Amino acid sequence: MLGIVRKFKLQKKTQQKNTKSAHSWKVKHNSAFLYDLNLAYNSDKSVDIGIMNKRCSFCGALKWKEESKGMCCKEGKVQLPSLKTLPDPLLSLLNGNHPDHTHFMGLTRKYNNCFQMTSFGATKVFNEGYMPTFKVQGQVYHLVGSVLPASKEEAQFLQIYFIGEDNVEADFRCKNSPGVKNALVKSLQLMLHESNPYVKDFKTALKRVSKNCSQFKMVIHANKKPVRAHRGRYNAPQANEVALVLVDQQFEKRDIIIEGYNNQLKRISELHRSYDALQYPLMFCHGEDGYTIDIPKIDPVSKKNVKKTVSALDFYSFRIMLRENVWNHLHYFRALFSQFLVDMYAKIETERLNFIRLNQKKAESRKLHTSSRCYR
Ligand SMILES: [Zn+2]
Repeated sequence: MLGIVRKFKLQKKTQQKNTKSAHSWKVKHNSAFLYDLNLAYNSDKSVDIGIMNKRCSFCGALKWKEESKGMCCKEGKVQLPSLKTLPDPLLSLLNGNHPDHTHFMGLTRKYNNCFQMTSFGATKVFNEGYMPTFKVQGQVYHLVGSVLPASKEEAQFLQIYFIGEDNVEADFRCKNSPGVKNALVKSLQLMLHESNPYVKDFKTALKRVSKNCSQFKMVIHANKKPVRAHRGRYNAPQANEVALVLVDQQFEKRDIIIEGYNNQLKRISELHRSYDALQYPLMFCHGEDGYTIDIPKIDPVSKKNVKKTVSALDFYSFRIMLRENVWNHLHYFRALFSQFLVDMYAKIETERLNFIRLNQKKAESRKLHTSSRCYR
């Protein structure tokens, strides 16, 4: 009898050991593609990461227990204004209160394409297949054309906003994005005309251009206000984001300068604050600023600006975190959110590479200095 009990215990121990090893991460490597019903995935510590209930005392971000303290806001040093609440019908399309919710959620990229003011480019873009993935190869860039097209029939991107007739404008958008609903495009179009500061400012500036004038430019400054320039040279003092320029002048290197009629596409700097809002007008329909190089870090105690600036990685880590009692609408854009993340990650990498390139001489001289000290 004692022998049978021992044998049973030994069998149970071996079984437990086998189960444990079967649950180890190595065994389940790539197992998402070979889902095994007999494995208790939810009770495995290597898979179960717990609940997202670790709250940052500085910014209120919710994190998992293994996530680092500073990943959301660098322990209070990064403080960005939160995104404004989306207007309707976009808000109800995302939160499920709109009859076209399911249709819209499946086509978020197409709907954004209808309204983008710049065009997205990379050497290769892969976004096909069942899984909602978005992959790019080569450098990512955004291009902008002129404010007005050579002829009305050729209007695209930003130019579509100034066609002037709602129905024609919506038809243009639908023609370029098959599968979208005309009525829905029209209501989103109206929403952007009413709430997007870039659309409003471009239209205000265009009204100030006389019909005979063909030589004009519009500029979106890299900094909010023109630096080292006389305000009198800007012919649209009421426009906050876009300024009409009728006189030849010098611009800052990162400024976005849009020609009046020249139909050539121009690349815009990924470090310009408007880079995100022009490409993703549905995600940032109030024209919220994206990353730029001069956002200061903040002393969490004195709340004063410090000399160091926020990096692109800090900026987007802060932007995409989920916070208590704050609805982060970016996460609801599904496939468009995937594209946004890939795009912004490319921006982070470009900034890193630029930093290495610009600081290579410094690093080399420091290396030489260290090695010469070693030889002494
Ligand atoms: Zn935080």
